[in-house]
Amino acid sequence: MSDRGVEDVDLLVVGGGKAGKSLAMDRAQAGWKVAMVERDKIGGTCINVACIPTKALVGSARTVLMGRHAKVMGVELDDQPLVSLDGLRRHKSSVVDGMVAAHKKMFADSGMDFILGTARFIAPRTVEVETRNEPIRLLRANIVINTGTAPAIPDLAGISESRVWTSETILQLERLPQRLIVLGGGYVGCEFASMFALFGIQVTLLQGPDQLLPREDSDVAGEVAGILANQGVGLGLGIRAQAVRRDASTGEVVAVLEDGSHVRGEESLVATGRAPVTADLGWRQPVLISPIAGSSGWTTTFAPQLVMSGRPVTSPAVRSSPMLHGTTSASSRRTSTTVRRSPEVASCPTPSLLRLSWRGWASPRPKPVPRDATWQLARFPFQRFRGPRPITTRRALGRPSWMQTLT
Ligand SMILES: Cc1cc2nc3c(=O)[nH]c(=O)nc-3n(C[C@H](O)[C@H](O)[C@H](O)COP(=O)(O)OP(=O)(O)OC[C@H]3O[C@@H](n4cnc5c(N)ncnc54)[C@H](O)[C@@H]3O)c2cc1C
Repeated sequence: MSDRGVEDVDLLVVGGGKAGKSLAMDRAQAGWKVAMVERDKIGGTCINVACIPTKALVGSARTVLMGRHAKVMGVELDDQPLVSLDGLRRHKSSVVDGMVAAHKKMFADSGMDFILGTARFIAPRTVEVETRNEPIRLLRANIVINTGTAPAIPDLAGISESRVWTSETILQLERLPQRLIVLGGGYVGCEFASMFALFGIQVTLLQGPDQLLPREDSDVAGEVAGILANQGVGLGLGIRAQAVRRDASTGEVVAVLEDGSHVRGEESLVATGRAPVTADLGWRQPVLISPIAGSSGWTTTFAPQLVMSGRPVTSPAVRSSPMLHGTTSASSRRTSTTVRRSPEVASCPTPSLLRLSWRGWASPRPKPVPRDATWQLARFPFQRFRGPRPITTRRALGRPSWMQTLT
């Protein structure tokens, strides 16, 4: 403790998401005095409201698929699979709760000071932390801001009064709708569309660009579109909603398209992107964020000691990528230094129960694939087996991916 109640630490991580927690544990284990402040999600977005709960639900959807194909595989089941929302929720919560408990233990074991509270800057290197039960703490350090992103609602007429769901609120849903409109055909939109179609919901997915997964090569995106169509998802590619409203008489959600036509659903999931969480960081806006899409460098901050890490500054939007950003920044004591690690391996949260992996580099320039590159092969064991099929990705990351699909 030093002057005026300010505690000095070697590293302070604000926001305990993938990048932040990896960095904090790594440095604490290396003997640094580390504090990490997390507002409400122990383990961050991925554990609580993104990768883990969705992958738990994808597991349930996969089980439905297995049940449907059981006979083909020589297994007789008495009935068709029936989805229970309570059961889905129970399964999802048990997986998430287990991960949260594991994170609590890992944080304690690493030796870091894990603080459940909200951090606000009061000076370039000083943060005040408000917790529920303890007095306000003041911490001074080199600081990594890892406050992540939250679902962004697009600026469409009527949308704010239409009670649309986001990828986070949909995890709390109280009943399964019969018809769902999904706005956005990125990883998140495709994954939910696939999952809900397998749960027996009639899904219509509207995607402004004429390709799903715009960051992927068209041949990869085409495969995914085919799989979704096989699962019964109605695909509207190149179709942009320009307004969303609730029909006063039926209570339905109505997406009004550019040509004036309508798509109706019982509920609607908006999966059109995420926005950085920086607005309430206090004092002068400490972070200047470069455009989120495709941004892959360090973001400019107002002081050389500050570094922004995590999703807002990494691409693609997958957990592994922010994690590497976090860990690599730790290898430099000067947190203002831009550190990149190459190659970077990202595992993609893929839709349609399809796992697709690629090996990517932080550099925008494609590099040759090393001989010892490790690839994660997708497996799709429930339908007729056709793979593995090499698919060359030229545009997205400039190197090949493999995926096994079954159609
Ligand atoms: C639906 C969905 C599914 C996904 N599935 C996958 C997947 O299968 N595989 C994969 O690799 N990636 C997946 N992702 C992406 C992955 O979740 C993100 O890349 C990852 O969570 C980003 O981590 P982060 O470190 O940037 O920040 P986050 O995990 O968002 O952490 C930021 C943290 O900061 C905290 N915070 C914010 N402000 C403050 C403050 N003032 N004080 C203290 N704390 C604060 C927040 O509470 C939050 O916990 C998915 C994303 C979504 C939305």
